Amino acid sequence: MKILIVEDDRTIAGLIAEALKQQQYIVEVAYDGQTALSYLETGAIDLLVLDLGLPKVDGITLCKTVRQKNYHLPILILTARDTNQDKVIGLDAGADDYVVKPFDLAELLARVRALLRRRQAAYLSCLRWEKLTLDPDTRKVSYNGEALHLTPKEYAILQVLLRNGSRILSRTQILDQAWSFDETPGEETVKVHLRSLRHKLKAAGAPPNLIETVHGFGYRLNPNVKSAI
Ligand code: CA
Repeated sequence: MKILIVEDDRTIAGLIAEALKQQQYIVEVAYDGQTALSYLETGAIDLLVLDLGLPKVDGITLCKTVRQKNYHLPILILTARDTNQDKVIGLDAGADDYVVKPFDLAELLARVRALLRRRQAAYLSCLRWEKLTLDPDTRKVSYNGEALHLTPKEYAILQVLLRNGSRILSRTQILDQAWSFDETPGEETVKVHLRSLRHKLKAAGAPPNLIETVHGFGYRLNPNVKSAI
């Protein structure tokens, strides 16, 4: 899951980014509203942590823009503005949650999880495929009940595949969703991680073609494997 933090205070942004990365989220940081919009246009963001006082495009305008453009992602406003009226303005602009600074990091993480859980509920069944399951809350992956020990990148790739089901994803699409933009690895990197992911799946008893290569297009979870069970 990819989270975008929009915060012009670099210390706070760094603190939240670090905490989220430790929870295995992919994190992008934008220090102004304009940059945030360009990240959102990629369609790869799953949740927005949004400050209100921002350079270029302020948080309320950004929030309204996201809703006008019909980007379906939860927005958590994180701000020092603490009056009830401020909260009403934020929630009316389209935010799903409102946290006041100074904030408790553990509580912020719990609210992020809650918002993502609600978002997950819409396609929860996609996080199972054949005998493969991925629990986004506990970050546990198993095949036929046997736990798989995945690296953060293998986990991120598998989650992207599971969320897309039998839809074919190009390496670039996988890169956009499983890596942050400043990491910019080559497409070869996706191949390497996929190879080790397949290896681990196979070791757990999964069919070797569970992740299917569709030559010239990309990868997907194999629909034939699913229907055969
Ligand atoms: Ca600010």
